[in-house]
This record gives sequence, C-alpha cells and structure tokens, in this order.
Amino acid sequence: SWARGRESRTGPSADLDTGVPTAARVYDVMLDGKDNYAVDRAVAEASLAVMPELKEIAIHNRAILHRVVRHLAAEEGITQFLDLGSGLPTARNTHEVAQEANPEARVVYVDIDPIVLAHGRAILANDDNTRVVTADIREPQRVLAHPDTRALIDFDQPVCVILCGILHHLLDEEDPRGIVDALREAVAPGSFFFITNFTRLGDAPESAELEKVLLSQLGTGRVRTPQELAEFFTGLELLTPGIVPLPLWRPDEPVTDATSIAARFMTGGVGRKN
Ligand code: SAM
Repeated sequence: SWARGRESRTGPSADLDTGVPTAARVYDVMLDGKDNYAVDRAVAEASLAVMPELKEIAIHNRAILHRVVRHLAAEEGITQFLDLGSGLPTARNTHEVAQEANPEARVVYVDIDPIVLAHGRAILANDDNTRVVTADIREPQRVLAHPDTRALIDFDQPVCVILCGILHHLLDEEDPRGIVDALREAVAPGSFFFITNFTRLGDAPESAELEKVLLSQLGTGRVRTPQELAEFFTGLELLTPGIVPLPLWRPDEPVTDATSIAARFMTGGVGRKN
C-alpha cells in the first residue's frame, strides 16, 4: 500500500513498519495498550467481530502467565526464565512477577518484532537481570546461542521456557513441535515449559472462523486441537491439573465460569523435564 511504501522509506526505523499489522501490536490492542497503529486495530476489530471474547481471553492469558511464573519462582525455585514471544511490555511483565517472588530472578524476553526491543529497552534500562532479544523462535539454536540469552541464562541449570500465546502464530510447516523438541533438548533436567495456545472448540465454529481471519489479515494463525496441544508436551511430566482452560490452572479465586468460549478458547499447562 501507499502507507507501507512510504513508511519503509521515511519511517524512523526500517524495522518499524506501521503499514503492516503485527501480532505483538494486535495483542496490544486486545490489552487496551497504546503501542499499536490503525492497521493493527483493523485486524483486532475483524477478530473481535468473529470472537468478541478475545479481550477477555487475553486477560485470562496474562493471568495464567502471572500464576505460573509466581508458582515456579516461589515454589519450584526457578530463577531463570526464557520468555519466547513475550510481546510488548504491558501491566505486570514476567520479570516483575518473578522478581517479586525472588529478587534474583533473571528473565530474557525474546520476540520477533523489533518494537518489543524498542519499548522493552526503556523500561528495563536499570535492570541488570533482564534482557530483550530480537530473534525468531523458528531458529531455536540462534535464540539459545544469542549473547544476551547466554549472558543471563545458564543452560546447565533449570530454566522455565515460556511459550505463552505464541505457538498459534506458527504454521504446521514451520514445525512448532520440532522447535519445542529442540528447546527441550537444550535445557537442563528440572526445567519447565509453560505453553498456552488457541484451541479448536468442536462446539464453537468461531474458533475456526478466527483462524481464517488471522491467516488472511495477519498472515499467521493456527487454532490447534487439544491433541495437537498435548503433543507439544511430549517428553515432559505435566503438573496438575494438566492442560486445561486457562482460568482452571491453579486459580487464586474460585472459578465461576469454566464453560464459556472466553474461558475455553485458550488452553495451557506446565510440563517438567525430568
Ligand atoms: N507472550 C505474551 C503473552 O502471552 O501475553 C504475548 C503473546 S502475543 C499474542 C504473541 C507474540 O509472539 C507477539 O509479540 C509476536 O511478535 C511473537 N512472535 C510471533 N512469531 C514469533 C516468532 N517466530 N519468533 C519470536 N516471536 C514471535
């Protein structure tokens, strides 16, 4: 488009193309953030037209992230977190939750979208225990070997690998299972994997409809079956309660809604490498 060509020639950074929507910025719209552009809001609007619950779903996704990180830092003694597809900084980021439980906790954020590094740098300027890496998890060895990853993460010690709301941005031909396998091979025993994903609901055609909208407007999007999601945990021991609708993973408060689309469209769990 005109906007696209113009931005890429004259924009502040060749990497920041405000004429093309990105997953990080569309998700920022869902969380009522400010770091998004008209193209991102258009994708968010089209997605919400198909599934109006998406904003609530994003909040559930943030809430389970917080519960998992707090649990692993406070109860399982995990001090290193590799947050893959971390998204734009928002309210209560991984390092804040982890460092509340353990001030020594170290977090490496990885995202393909350079806007995450641009915004992350500002909020992390004074935190030696946190870094932001711009990298593509479809190249897991590069992510693992990146100097900023190595600076904070000792792969001889247990680490929590976070794949929260990212694997549904990978198509099957991009081999998300192979990526998880490579990561699992690379980490020490005692490490954890936390994964959440869009889940195909047999009783809700909107889950398949949303996949079409995301694929056509964002160029990524794969809504997986519960079986496909379970396969990501191959070789890991699932923590109770297993792979469940997000609000049901060790809730802080009694769960009043476990049956709506908002509660069930994303599922997730935590697995341990023994
Ligand atoms: N993890 C955060 C959360 O759950 O709140 C953000 C999830 S957001 C829906 C997905 C993020 O994954 C986006 O920021 C996007 O840029 C990132 N992403 C998508 N594909 C990626 C890839 N191949 N490598 C690294 N990051 C990727």
